[in-house]
Amino acid sequence: MAKVRFTETALRDAHQSLLATRMRTRDMIPIAEEMDKVGYFSVEAWGGATFDTCIRYLNEDPWDRLRQLKSEFNKTPIQMLLRGQNLVGYKHYPDDVVEKFVEKSYENGVDIFRVFDALNDIRNMEKAIKVAKDQGAHVQGTISYTISPVHTNDDFVELAKNLEALDCDSVAIKDMAGLITPTAAYDLVSRLKEETDLLVDLHCHCTSGMTPISYYAACQAGVDILDTAISPLAWGTSQPPTESMVAALQGTEFDTGLDLKLLAHIKKYFEDIKEKYSGILDPISESIDADVLLYQIPGGMLSNLISQLKEQNALDRYGDVLDEMPRVRKDMGYPPLVTPTSQIVGIQSVMNVLGGERYKTVSNEVKEYMKGMYGKPPAPVDEEIASKIIGDEEVITCRPADLLEPEFDKFKSEGEEKGFVKSDEDALTYALYPPIAPKFLKGEAEEEELQPAHSIDENDGIGIPTQYNVEVDGDVYEVKIMPTGFMEIGEASDGAAFQPVEGGITSSMQGMVIKLNVNVGDKVTAGSTICVIEAMKMENDIQSEVDGVVEEIFVEPGDAVSAGDTLMVIK
Ligand code: MN
Repeated sequence: MAKVRFTETALRDAHQSLLATRMRTRDMIPIAEEMDKVGYFSVEAWGGATFDTCIRYLNEDPWDRLRQLKSEFNKTPIQMLLRGQNLVGYKHYPDDVVEKFVEKSYENGVDIFRVFDALNDIRNMEKAIKVAKDQGAHVQGTISYTISPVHTNDDFVELAKNLEALDCDSVAIKDMAGLITPTAAYDLVSRLKEETDLLVDLHCHCTSGMTPISYYAACQAGVDILDTAISPLAWGTSQPPTESMVAALQGTEFDTGLDLKLLAHIKKYFEDIKEKYSGILDPISESIDADVLLYQIPGGMLSNLISQLKEQNALDRYGDVLDEMPRVRKDMGYPPLVTPTSQIVGIQSVMNVLGGERYKTVSNEVKEYMKGMYGKPPAPVDEEIASKIIGDEEVITCRPADLLEPEFDKFKSEGEEKGFVKSDEDALTYALYPPIAPKFLKGEAEEEELQPAHSIDENDGIGIPTQYNVEVDGDVYEVKIMPTGFMEIGEASDGAAFQPVEGGITSSMQGMVIKLNVNVGDKVTAGSTICVIEAMKMENDIQSEVDGVVEEIFVEPGDAVSAGDTLMVIK
């Protein structure tokens, strides 16, 4: 009897999609023993944005979370989502860091590695796949599913064959925005079953509303594994509900054999968890957004922007943003929109629309992308735009990570000297997130408080839409756009009023200073980069608007800044 198996996403993707990845380990452990009895193919419980969120917001050691989960799940394999050469970050890491990270992930409890690359560039996946295979793990290669004028199921099948050649055990169709239609799912799953020996997993989000039908079509085509979330954490931008899918398949040849009574008990637990986190549950992420079918862009980020535009009576930009995102995607050669390309395309579109001129402001990530540093785009990038962004700088054709020097030992010894790195795991945390890891590893980070339900930020200055909140992977960032390109002296988020400083250079965004390029006394010219701020998980060069001398610097690397904070004075 063909039997479909389920991967439960409650402990990773479901709360990443609905609860801004904020579920604490202490809210996972009490239900783990029950979940272990269900008979899932796996529980997805680590990777993706969970690592970042643990150290950035929860003051939790992600490695410790993994070990705790491992000690509870005795029968059920623990699965992680690994962004290929990006690991659990937003840029490529050198091979030695990838190797050590995968080894330590396996050692601490990951049984199944789902490895993907945002551009479906297999060169960005092969290192992680090989190391995970060497450990003895189950490796699931991934097709980042998208629709565009240049993507066909032929290409996806070809990619799966290449993943099989790398010795993957299974392949996941990763449909981030719920774009796959029942017909496309049937066709793709059938062909993967016919043309490869891989187990086939379908991973969809419900954003478009079609997903449960596509799941059934995939069953008819012989899918082996479906990703679902226990019902309180299902629907919307999350996965279809586990119990409903179990019930739908009961008594058919696809019967999962899972016990609905046991699932009801688990459901009860997560109902309470959902209530506990209701303050960060965005109603938009819970609903269906059929616009995704028209614009082929993930709903979460855009719908958040739209709601902000509405609130600020600036809905006239709604159409502009909708039009701009597919244009930016086309300019960039139709990348599938998944971390990090979703952020790169999304933020660039916002900058293009609100900045008044396309590609006037460009994140460093877009520059790197245009230079080929993220891998080979599915289609050629727009040459005119590329030359506007990178001039005549060379575009690489080699595997991007071949250009990266090893750095694990450097981070390890440096962290040990400074006293905050005490293990290889610590060293990896540091190597992955140099700007934020030291504070966490030194024990100086604090757990953020749970937001009370339905909190609404008071917003001054209604009528002038220059301030936007932009959501990235569930984190909301404050962005201010000034028409002149100059930045406003505003009010810090802690409420302390900043007085305008003559010659002051202020941050146009909420973020973290990760690099200072100048010292007090340095001469700078207008347009030169004076520091780099990481915002919305992108690195942004901050340029001097004037020629002058650096008189005073108020920030240092690692400092969090709000929109409007004065960074330095140049006179
Ligand atoms: Mn997902």
